[in-house]
Amino acid sequence: MQDFARTGAAVGATTATLEKTRILGSYFRTLGDDDLRRAAIFMSGRAFGPSQRRTLGLGWRAINRVVGSISTRSEEELSRIFRKHSDLGDWAGEALEGRTQNEDASLEEIAATLEAIRSAKGAAKAVPLEAILSRLHPEAARFLIKIIAGEMRIGLSEGLVEAAIAEAFDVPIAQVKRVHLITGDIGETAVRCKNKQFESTKVTPFQPFRFMLASPVESPQEAFDRMGAGKVWTEEKYDGVRCQLHHVDGRVEMFSRDLKETTAAFPELAEAALRLPHGVMFDGEVLAHRNGRVLRFFELQHRLGRKVVDEELRREVPVALVIFDLLWVNNRAVLDEPLQERRRLLESLELEHPFLLARVEEATSPDDLDRIFAETRERGNEGLMVKDPNSQYTPGRRGLAWLKLKRPLATLDVVVTAVEWGHGKRKGVLSDYTFAVLDTTTGKLVNVGKAYTGLTDAEIATMTEKFLHMQVRDVGYGYAVRPEVVLEVAFDSIQRSERHASGFALRFPRIVRIRDDKPVGETDTLERVEQLYDRYFGEKAEVPLSEVAET
Ligand code: AMP
Repeated sequence: MQDFARTGAAVGATTATLEKTRILGSYFRTLGDDDLRRAAIFMSGRAFGPSQRRTLGLGWRAINRVVGSISTRSEEELSRIFRKHSDLGDWAGEALEGRTQNEDASLEEIAATLEAIRSAKGAAKAVPLEAILSRLHPEAARFLIKIIAGEMRIGLSEGLVEAAIAEAFDVPIAQVKRVHLITGDIGETAVRCKNKQFESTKVTPFQPFRFMLASPVESPQEAFDRMGAGKVWTEEKYDGVRCQLHHVDGRVEMFSRDLKETTAAFPELAEAALRLPHGVMFDGEVLAHRNGRVLRFFELQHRLGRKVVDEELRREVPVALVIFDLLWVNNRAVLDEPLQERRRLLESLELEHPFLLARVEEATSPDDLDRIFAETRERGNEGLMVKDPNSQYTPGRRGLAWLKLKRPLATLDVVVTAVEWGHGKRKGVLSDYTFAVLDTTTGKLVNVGKAYTGLTDAEIATMTEKFLHMQVRDVGYGYAVRPEVVLEVAFDSIQRSERHASGFALRFPRIVRIRDDKPVGETDTLERVEQLYDRYFGEKAEVPLSEVAET
């Protein structure tokens, strides 16, 4: 630990980043695998690697008590020293000077102490800390407390730790970043770089790795162009939460998109996975799913982030996992196999509820894709994933092998009822438009939202002129205008809202175009807004099961 502390101090003493990486790189080079893993994690200001998914749970008060007791300094004295540093580690280092046995400890011992602190409960957490602090040289104590506090404060970002790994083992920085992207763990990254293990397919059960991501495209044509394949696969884009499930040798764990463990939130999936006769790793989307129907994300939210899910919640919001990829089977990783082969293996597992398979279709032309996309939206789905059937699974990568085609669910034709002067670079032009739909029961226009985006500067300039001639009332920051301009607006969702007379508000509305061709009498109605709300966004909105292939 003293070498670690000495290195940390030297890194902190220089402001030159190249010098920092050089110092840290030389230190890393002296270490064996296990210590290297620990040192890289500790230097990033963490007690545990993210893949260990542990937290210490030791508060500042406990640390204060331990340092007070070992140093036998008064509260006032401790406060005075703290004010000098405003850093927990630096404070502890000075407070303990001359009060400890000045011994060294291995990084292994430090790691064991951190684990002992983590697993102890309540006041007992202070015991292992006191035992080690009373022995350690104050400089080492200083750095141990920094690790516990979760901050090194020596001007060392995770990016610099990556650079130091590159320097230490003569690996290009881009390569280090790639490995880090896959492992999501700086300690594991350091060890793999040291041992030159660069293949992206090296996955270990219960060490979550990054998910493969998709790049957005706007149209079926663009999807085909970018993928550059004659044939593409489509899958529905399910609206739930991403999940990586590992089941190997009678153990099950699940992980979220940010690699946090989520097993406790989905006990029915864990139980079902334990019954599977094979070791597997799945990539999929957890959905709330009751009586054969997929429920809206809204319902699933009740299950997220839970440490304990009781019987009642399980009954009320049951979940299913829609699997779209298989990453491990028969004791081996299959990330390098083409998607078609992974899917074949996945189907051969003959999974049953609560495991479902994503619905796959094949498209051989942009028109084909357009048709599938339209059908998907008919089923009430937000979008479509387009995948290259020959592609490998590349963790952490947002490449062109997976594309997401998301178009607004629906657009509405609305009438502008009020306009406001813009701000910043939109100062002096009327750029914010409040718009309405027709309430057919009263014959009145009722506002449903306000749009700021979608038009070019030139269009806004023209519209400003036009609106100035249409004003019916000056309200200072803008005008009420005669309802004559029709816009087509896209939006992300519809919410209930007190703000507008309609009782609804469109979220993130954007102007698609100005509909000069459309008379005001033919614009959309409040009834249509209500229908869309009930169908897609309301609490009772449900998506038919047809979007999930039966298994
Ligand atoms: P986005 O969050 O818009 O970047 O879209 C990517 C997310 O869509 C993924 O992280 C998944 O959670 C989700 N998703 C839903 N269905 C699929 C699918 N069939 N394949 C891959 N990702 C999907």
